[in-house]
Amino acid sequence: MSAQKSRKPKASRARAFRLDTGLRPGDVDLHINVDPQAGKAFDGRVEFELDSDRPRRRIEIHAAELRVHRARVAFGGESLRGRIVMRPERETALIHFDRTLPAGRLRLSLSFAGTLRGDLSGLYGAEVNGARYAFTQLEPASARKFFPCFDEPAMKARFALSVTTPAANQVISNSREERVAIGDTGQKTVHFERTPLLSSYLVALAVGDLRASRVVRAGKTPIRLWFVPGFENLVDFGLLAARQSLLRLEEYFGIPYPYSKLDLVAVPDFEIGAMENAGAVFFRETLLLIDPDTVTLAEKKRAAEVICHELAHMWFGNLVTMAWWDDLWLNEAFATWMAFWIVDRWKPGWKMWHDFQHHRAPALDLDGLRNTHAIYTPVASPEEANANFDVITYEKGASVVRMLEHYIGEAAFRRGVRKYLRRHFEANASANDLWSALEEASGEGVAKVVQAWTLRPGFPLLRVKTERRGKTTHASISQERFREGPARKADTLEAAWPIPWVAHVGRSGRAPSAHRRQLLTRRRQQVPLGKTAPRFLYANADEGGFFRVEHGSQEHEALLQHAGDLAVAERMGWVGHQWALVRTRRAPLARFLEVADALASDRDPDVLAALERPLAVLGRRLAPLASAEAPELFAAWIRDHFGAGFGALGFDPRPSEAGPRRLRRARLLSLAGGLGADPTLIREATRRCGAYLTDRDSLCPDLADPVVGIAAASGNARLYARLRRAAERAHTPQERRRFLLALADFPGNDEIDETLERCLGDGVATQDVAFVLARAMANPAATLRTWRFLRRRWSRLLRRMPPHLAGRLIETTPLLGTKAHRKEVAEFFREHPVPSAERTLRQALERFDSWNRFKGPARRELDAFLRSP
Ligand SMILES: [Zn+2]
Repeated sequence: MSAQKSRKPKASRARAFRLDTGLRPGDVDLHINVDPQAGKAFDGRVEFELDSDRPRRRIEIHAAELRVHRARVAFGGESLRGRIVMRPERETALIHFDRTLPAGRLRLSLSFAGTLRGDLSGLYGAEVNGARYAFTQLEPASARKFFPCFDEPAMKARFALSVTTPAANQVISNSREERVAIGDTGQKTVHFERTPLLSSYLVALAVGDLRASRVVRAGKTPIRLWFVPGFENLVDFGLLAARQSLLRLEEYFGIPYPYSKLDLVAVPDFEIGAMENAGAVFFRETLLLIDPDTVTLAEKKRAAEVICHELAHMWFGNLVTMAWWDDLWLNEAFATWMAFWIVDRWKPGWKMWHDFQHHRAPALDLDGLRNTHAIYTPVASPEEANANFDVITYEKGASVVRMLEHYIGEAAFRRGVRKYLRRHFEANASANDLWSALEEASGEGVAKVVQAWTLRPGFPLLRVKTERRGKTTHASISQERFREGPARKADTLEAAWPIPWVAHVGRSGRAPSAHRRQLLTRRRQQVPLGKTAPRFLYANADEGGFFRVEHGSQEHEALLQHAGDLAVAERMGWVGHQWALVRTRRAPLARFLEVADALASDRDPDVLAALERPLAVLGRRLAPLASAEAPELFAAWIRDHFGAGFGALGFDPRPSEAGPRRLRRARLLSLAGGLGADPTLIREATRRCGAYLTDRDSLCPDLADPVVGIAAASGNARLYARLRRAAERAHTPQERRRFLLALADFPGNDEIDETLERCLGDGVATQDVAFVLARAMANPAATLRTWRFLRRRWSRLLRRMPPHLAGRLIETTPLLGTKAHRKEVAEFFREHPVPSAERTLRQALERFDSWNRFKGPARRELDAFLRSP
């Protein structure tokens, strides 16, 4: 498409980072010597079979922060030595030869050496209880830090790995072990079968004292979990979720699982949530190892969703790979959508699409900013690809995929996906290839609809009213770009979004509610709804569309009266839209509080969760600015609305109580005891937290988060010491995370200082540092202190944290609130730039502005509301 072409980076800029496509790898033999216990050094040797399209005297290959030596090339019975020049600015090694190499088949061999890294990327070291490990994390462009390679997604090769290490270590890679050779010095060499064609970022290696679960099979595929010693009893759920996902994915795609086995590895220190290495998927421990007795339902659902997401990549991403990183979004958007789709079919009672609503809420928030980006973004360098790993790529992308599936229908969508995978089997493709396949399968014009959503940043706000015209009621709809800040002149010139619009129309009398569908293509449009006026109209049925809705005041009144008739996702969406309208001064605060009032006794835990987020902003951030009395008046309002609901349920579940009721209890406790600061509930939560630390069976697992959180938020030094010990001796990864994060919730300066200092040392794993600090920023009693600590210790923190996680901290700075702090933040990061988080910083500054526009008028409205009888 032309629009896409004009957005491609300038050829020269892109070329600066790309290898010569005339030289392509085939088979790669990679040998590694590594002994993580003995030290950080590793070395290896790699041999490439190459196809060269023309005679050449130089070969350029990716290599970063490695020592590369002994280059040799062989062709037609000859062998030449090469001279190696490292080019750090391009992250490559350029190998010069004295003579011209002919076109055709070449064999290149190189030796190399490196150091196990400390930043959770490339081949890195990790330590648990004195045992040392080596793991890889190579996406998007860290394979070149592990071994010299052609590190671009389209340069697929077949890898045969072998690893020499002390015999006591386990070695895991993408394929099955072919053979193990035992050396005479206590060493062994593990040879793995050659992989199918793979992009370099999907190569995997794990070395160390790892334990394996039993093997379960999904069809022909053997599945195992791997973990550090001590977690033997936490494997059943991961095995079950992997097997259930794999069988369903094979059925969906109509193609068998593409690799010879499936290992799922729980990695004790890991940068991201999980990584879809072909045949050897790596996870954070919290997302794979599950204790059925103490895990919360939310943790279990999240694990299932992530396991399924990674397995969806085995086809969508690994078997068929994006040609370049600009289409990374498609991998992630599709896998995100697919995981919810599959887990929802496996466990309908889990209501996964409600979780999806929570996940995409931050995407709608972010995409309203000026500094958002289109889902599809041209990228010249791997760093730019890194900066695109955000909620726009994943959650907005998944919303667009979902919208498209609803638009062309489930069956046609699946046919199109199958066609696309078969057509590009083991090769590379672009988003346009998928649109073509979907168009063929559905006969609908897919590209023109979907590209408006992927190539344009932002999303529309739909203003919707019902009008009587003659004998028919119409929905009168206008659309404009939704902006967190003031509208811009250019907005009025933007074309309309093509919106596959579905409305929930509440019929009067006995007629059942119905969905009205229409492809909206104009900025203003009338859609006939029928002869009788509807009882209510909800203009984003099931929240299937990625847009916000402002209902007219009559329509708003009707929704208040018929809130119970809306679907759960609609009630959740309604809360989010009303809050966004209030936050951007399109509606008065009272309008949101009316909705909160109408939904306060809602029986669905996800609706309560959707309410809690904005209510927390009002209670924790706005009320203290409104007046001296406002915080207590607001807390009383919360207790008034949610206290009785919790009182009716009590702390202790009835035997065999249903899941939703348990989740509702947890949510109501968090509201009434946390935001409502009910002193009786705080006392009881503190008592139960103490009991829970001694005896995990004393508390319903779903209450663990609110009970520990509420206790910590008013906790003393003694509780702090107990929680810290509990974190150190946790029985499960989820417990460790729960207790560790709660150390940032305390009100006292001494406790907060200790938590912050721990982030500099071994008390907090590298993977958790940013999360603990972000939690401390979100604790109103600790925000300022944490910010001062961040500034003081920034360079040390940055040495510990991968840049991707440093961005997480920048995201939290708007919690500081004031204009003076905005200036401080801007200045500080001007002096201490984080290149991969430049956009994150601009977004954070924009959020400061948006808060400052909101808080002035809103605090007066809140004060007046709380004082009104
Ligand atoms: Zn993914």
